[in-house]
Amino acid sequence: SKGTDFLLAVEGLTVSFDGFKAVDDLSFYLDPKEIRVIIGPNGAGKTTVLDLICGKTKATAGSIKFAGKELTKLKEHQIVHSGVGRKFQTPSVFEDLTVFENLEVSYPQGHSVMGALAFKRDRAVVEAVEEVAETIFLTDALNEPAASLSHGQKQWLEIGMLLIQKPDLLMLDEPVAGMSVAERKKTAELLRVITRDHTVLVIEHDMQFVGDIADRVTVMHQGKVLSEGSIEHVKSDPKVIEVYLGH
Ligand code: ADP
Repeated sequence: SKGTDFLLAVEGLTVSFDGFKAVDDLSFYLDPKEIRVIIGPNGAGKTTVLDLICGKTKATAGSIKFAGKELTKLKEHQIVHSGVGRKFQTPSVFEDLTVFENLEVSYPQGHSVMGALAFKRDRAVVEAVEEVAETIFLTDALNEPAASLSHGQKQWLEIGMLLIQKPDLLMLDEPVAGMSVAERKKTAELLRVITRDHTVLVIEHDMQFVGDIADRVTVMHQGKVLSEGSIEHVKSDPKVIEVYLGH
């Protein structure tokens, strides 16, 4: 039955802004450890869906069940604590801190910047930082200030800052925007490693990248699900072709 084995079950989700339904009776379900990509034309409601899941926007109707827990009644910080991590499109790392420090201050259990710098580093934190740094290809840059990183490396660092919090669900808004072809390839590799332990929900426009990473694709249009399935399925769906050609 619906909603039992899913990590995330979104049902009948609706939000209206001044009577305009940006998300309109939307339902979709994520299996544990899948990579789902949401695509769709501008204004389809993709970003609003992520805003609703992370509690930044409150739903007008519907439910969001995450690991069996209803998220629509929780506040943003409670949703983070439930294991939902969200990365926005623009990287927001601490430019003046090193890569190591950016990861260290993101480690849960209240490590503040001051605390991290003032006291001897906890072995468990150092190990977690080193493990995440390797996953995000930044081992050699651990002692560099974040300001010296490329745009792509900053995107990876921000993913690392989420990973170190061990979220069950990681939501990424256009993770390869502004990246080189080589960085896109490495990001696809990174996402495959991440899904050994995490479920990933991505908004993406780059169809090559979508094909590289997606287990399943959900196509949104006018706040609703237009099509869903494998990349091959949605690409050959006449409804999808019509919406994209019509733009
Ligand atoms: P997408 O991410 O697919 O491009 P969005 O979720 O950003 O689409 O937006 C869907 C629609 O909802 C757009 O028409 C947008 O203008 C509108 N919208 C999004 N957020 C708000 C808001 N806070 N207030 C009013 N309208 C909004």
